Amino acid sequence: MSIYIGLDIGGTKFMVAAANESGQILRRLRAATSTSLEQDLATLNQMIAEVAGEEKILGMGAAIGGPLDWQRGIVSPLHQPAWRDVPLKDWMTGRWGCPFWVDVDTNIAALGEYTFGNAGGVERFLYLTLSTGMGGGFLVDGQIYRGMNGAHPEAAHQAVHFRCANPQAVQCECGAPDCLEALVSGNGIRRIYGKPAEELSAAEWDEVAYNLGQGLRNLAVLYTPDLIRIGGGVAVGGGPAFIQRACQVMEAHLKLTPAPQVSLSDLGYDTALVGAIAVAIHGLEQ
Ligand SMILES: [Zn+2]
Repeated sequence: MSIYIGLDIGGTKFMVAAANESGQILRRLRAATSTSLEQDLATLNQMIAEVAGEEKILGMGAAIGGPLDWQRGIVSPLHQPAWRDVPLKDWMTGRWGCPFWVDVDTNIAALGEYTFGNAGGVERFLYLTLSTGMGGGFLVDGQIYRGMNGAHPEAAHQAVHFRCANPQAVQCECGAPDCLEALVSGNGIRRIYGKPAEELSAAEWDEVAYNLGQGLRNLAVLYTPDLIRIGGGVAVGGGPAFIQRACQVMEAHLKLTPAPQVSLSDLGYDTALVGAIAVAIHGLEQ
């Protein structure tokens, strides 16, 4: 049998899976990252060898943090300082002799939702992830929307009209003081409320939902997507009521553009991994 390999290369952990041609995961492994590039690559290659077993690898897809050059497959994930200008595509195709594609984790996660998360056929599809940080990926007819010179649009770093009981604590890691990420991500929530998302009171969740709703409103006004799907630990922790509240805020502020459907991902923590499998099977449009 032949198989496809998906890699989710995160800042703190790696997930590697082997899947059949319908994307069904046959074997999977996870491991912690190190602070050494050589060690990380040895770990990844070992994990690939283990999930692949004796079978022929037909394609490989990988999700990783930006910035990166997806066409040349050169990656420099911000939260992994040992990884700078790593020619991952060349190394992986050289080592494994199969096609290899890599892209920003939120783009890959959007493809995972589109392919395996009940969003198939949606013409304009926006995926947002709310976890430690925040990110987004936008697909048009199942293809990743890319900006000027291949730039990745940063939905998390839009300014929003926010409410906050502790406004002096709003500070984005990108340097700007007023990004959506600084208000609704796990790290942002810790800075503002002094505790993790799972300990927020109902009133604090309501404030976070309001701010997310203002971000959704901006995205709906600018992109007019059909569907916005939201995943990641903070979104899953807030649950359907949190998403519904954010959606109400969005709808209340949309006067001229139609309101997209907004829903919570049901792929849990596997969105980027299954997206990487989808890319291993279908490739990325060049
Ligand atoms: Zn920012």
